[in-house]
Amino acid sequence: MRGSQVSVASNLRVTQMRVGEPIDLIRVVSSPICFLVLFLGSDLGFSDGAFVFGAQRQDSSGLKETAGGNSNRLIPQESKQLKPPIRLISKDQKTSFDGNRSFDYLKDICKIGPRPSASKGMGKQKKYIQTHFESIGGQFLQQEFIAKSPYSGKNVKLHNLLIRWHPERTRRILICCHHDTRPFADADKRNPRAKFIGANDGGSGVALLCELGHHMESLDGVFGIDFVFFDGEEFVIQRPRDRMFLGSTFFAEQYSRGIPKWRYECAVLVDMVADKDLQIPLEGNSLHFARGLTEEIWDVAREIGVKEFVPEEFKFIRDDHLPLNEIAKIPTCDIIDFNFPNPTAGNIYWHTREDKIENCSAESLGKVGAVVLAWLHRKQRTEK
Ligand SMILES: [Zn+2]
Repeated sequence: MRGSQVSVASNLRVTQMRVGEPIDLIRVVSSPICFLVLFLGSDLGFSDGAFVFGAQRQDSSGLKETAGGNSNRLIPQESKQLKPPIRLISKDQKTSFDGNRSFDYLKDICKIGPRPSASKGMGKQKKYIQTHFESIGGQFLQQEFIAKSPYSGKNVKLHNLLIRWHPERTRRILICCHHDTRPFADADKRNPRAKFIGANDGGSGVALLCELGHHMESLDGVFGIDFVFFDGEEFVIQRPRDRMFLGSTFFAEQYSRGIPKWRYECAVLVDMVADKDLQIPLEGNSLHFARGLTEEIWDVAREIGVKEFVPEEFKFIRDDHLPLNEIAKIPTCDIIDFNFPNPTAGNIYWHTREDKIENCSAESLGKVGAVVLAWLHRKQRTEK
């Protein structure tokens, strides 16, 4: 994600704006850069042969699902190198969000190494995500699209990953994050071409959703929940040539055309939520596009005593919530700690080698996860 310099509704206070590209640049990511791939045959594996999926089908939603559910989900060519996450607990054992278990997922993800779009590392993580969520009862779908590689200029396949819970429920809520990491630690002053692990920026959202998934099957109420992992959030090596938010923009464009066929009443994006020194102020674009939803979430945080959700507006952040708000018209709130490590030091770990597991914590993941889960419970209780 990026900070932004944008002009929005005059009733919002803009503080500490960052220089970025104009907000409407996100609109231009459309054909021919991205287009829906209808059928690619049965082999949807990465071209490097990291792994291949079993036979796949596509339903009218425009999303592909692995055939045969849990029994036929993967041809485990790499099962020895990357063990699936086995941290299952029985339903009655624990119902609160487990920050430690979420942090264990984060450790697993970071062990994979860098996970930029269309890389082998991302392929491994995708397998990890699919294996994990299918093992705890989620329905796995993926949305494939084509983007230009910023390295070669050639077309590569990117994937938004979708996990569905209670698909029969027609009223739905979206919880999302990005699953790609930046190609390099390009804000690192010593070595801007260094490997970027993205424990916080990229990894934390995935780890939070991995844990949240354990609480979804038992989530009674009117809403069905979908998780989406966006690809291509920062498939960039040269700005402004390379565009951001490819996956969320593609998703939003398809959604605005009626794909998939189900609708979302609101969405929550989590990004950079594992910072050891957690502070999450209200974000300007979230207030602008989804004030009611955003205030609701900070209210829940106050009620359950998570003081790190600071009820003050910080700045306008450009992130995957913009395409969802602007193109898909889904009211979307971004939960983001954009001062890594803290407001005093500034956002100095962002896009550097300091974005590593040692600067993240189970406590922070636990707090953000608890707020999201409590908010979901509240939605299910109040909207009958
Ligand atoms: Zn980033």
